Amino acid sequence: LIRNAVLDLDGYVPVEPVEAVAERIGKPVDEIIRLHMNENPYGTSMRVQEVLASFDHYQEYPDADQRVARERIAAYTGAPSQRIIIGNGSDELIDLLLLATIDPGDEVIVPTPTFGVYESRTPLFGGVVRRVPRTADFDLDIDAITQAVTERTKLIFVTAPNNPTGNMPTTQQIVRLLRTGALIVADEAYYEFSGKTFLPLAREFDNLVILRTFSKWAGLAGMRLGYAILPDALAAELWKVKQPFNVSTAGLKAIEAVLDDIDYLQQTVNRIKIERGRLYRGLRKLNFLQPYPSQGNFILCRVTRGDAHDIHRRLERRGILVRKYSDPDLRNYLRITVGRPEHTDALMAALRGMAGEI
Ligand code: PMP
Repeated sequence: LIRNAVLDLDGYVPVEPVEAVAERIGKPVDEIIRLHMNENPYGTSMRVQEVLASFDHYQEYPDADQRVARERIAAYTGAPSQRIIIGNGSDELIDLLLLATIDPGDEVIVPTPTFGVYESRTPLFGGVVRRVPRTADFDLDIDAITQAVTERTKLIFVTAPNNPTGNMPTTQQIVRLLRTGALIVADEAYYEFSGKTFLPLAREFDNLVILRTFSKWAGLAGMRLGYAILPDALAAELWKVKQPFNVSTAGLKAIEAVLDDIDYLQQTVNRIKIERGRLYRGLRKLNFLQPYPSQGNFILCRVTRGDAHDIHRRLERRGILVRKYSDPDLRNYLRITVGRPEHTDALMAALRGMAGEI
């Protein structure tokens, strides 16, 4: 009864639920320091919370057209609202892009290492993933990517800045990819932390998709809100395949409220950027981790002495969660989300405390 593409999935969930970890280590969930999911440690704004609490029409279906929220995003981004689609997290938009573009056997290029969802979802839609490894310092290998393009290539995913490596592609690199004619999906999930966007290229190229999210900078990961800025023709097709009520009324209201309160959220983004510098300098002083400069709200570290999974376990026992990887490319790396100053202090104390033992 079940499709082979589904049977072939390993069902592996990369991050264990915090509730399960808390139970295992015997700590209340609230005391766990969450540096493993690139969330905003300051939460969202009071304004969002007030709007959600006082809204009294939850008995009605949401606006399938997402009109008001899309207009607010248009004002925020400068992109025309008819080219914007809001998704249930940007994860859903990745699915919709695959659903709208992939015929069985079509190819999707994924420069690795990167965010795992592009690779895990593509086969479900009948697509074939072509992994193209990044260079030793995690730069895009543009020659290798352009050589991997065939007449079956539909999409090339480029994460900007890249998760988990933290680096940005250059405009020149993106332009070279756009010239291949494939649809280039620039995933700008961490845009607010980098301040750099490839959106201006959409004026010149009609094969560029920009993905953004409210999960990171806006502190709304739990609401599941992302958006895509699409070429006109593709936007029209995505509207056809999107579930009419994919985004809840609460989600649409939250977007309006967030974009009414940008100053507050920009302050939390600034705090996180300052803390990113402090965390990076602290990590550099350790003699068993090598941090990579990052334009996101996280820092990738190569474990130069000891074992990443062992360090992960030792931190977890102290109630500090960071991201570990089973992917062989990243087996000895850890990704650490930038938290509040007190989170950095607790993390650094724990890491310094284990320096003699590993
Ligand atoms: N793209 C990238 C690069 C990400 O890191 C993430 C979240 N980890 C997402 C997309 C998904 O974000 P959302 O919560 O909007 O689904």
